[in-house]
Amino acid sequence: MLKENLREVEGRVEAACKRAGRDVSEVTLIAVSKTKPVEDLQEIYDAGKRDFGENKVQELCAKMEVMPQDIKWHMIGHLQRNKVKYIVGNVALIHSVDSFRLAEEINIQAKKKGIVVPILVEVNIAEEESKFGVTREDAMELVRQIATLDAIEIKGLMTIAPYVVEAEENRPYFRKIKELSVDIAKQNIDNVSMDILSMGMTGDFEVAIEEGATMVRVGTGIFGKRNYQNT
Ligand SMILES: *Cc1c(COP(=O)(O)O)cnc(C)c1O
Repeated sequence: MLKENLREVEGRVEAACKRAGRDVSEVTLIAVSKTKPVEDLQEIYDAGKRDFGENKVQELCAKMEVMPQDIKWHMIGHLQRNKVKYIVGNVALIHSVDSFRLAEEINIQAKKKGIVVPILVEVNIAEEESKFGVTREDAMELVRQIATLDAIEIKGLMTIAPYVVEAEENRPYFRKIKELSVDIAKQNIDNVSMDILSMGMTGDFEVAIEEGATMVRVGTGIFGKRNYQNT
């Protein structure tokens, strides 16, 4: 049953790519499995998915321990500096870097392990008070600062668009962050590429793809509604 959800979402990803004249290989669908039991993750794994997203370090680490080794884990939630050490080297990508202090800690842990850590800079594109992320105005400066840290590689930007009923309402925000990523790419900063644009969730991933998303993060559409009472 979860497998059917996955296939349905994959079909919609494909259709959105077609509409936008993009190749489906340009877009990675991340299965956002937060709050869901490992049995559910295993079902989606067995259906072929290898990219999973989690938003809490403890839950991510617990699942990582029991799930197959070839999964690419994406840290998509707000990250505290004291938790960085648990995920550096274990996740494929950290989507949620929104301060220099956090980046510095990632850099320290990366050096300890002798690795270079790929990250995205999180931008609060709609400037919602409830959301993390750097403002659009401050993004360029933060990218420049983080780029000086030699054990970090900036791969692009991430945003969480507002919760809306009509996905179209988020199109202007997706456009804005795409523009920002193009502006940053033009600066040709060392250690910085803007190949990844992580945006779009269950309610708006098709619009996000039409506007240039290269990673979409879909939870509810694949795993069903979340029950936060149990977590
Ligand atoms: C929970 C979450 C998602 C997935 O949300 P859905 O609406 O369930 O698809 C995507 N991105 C982030 C950062 C999340 O925390």
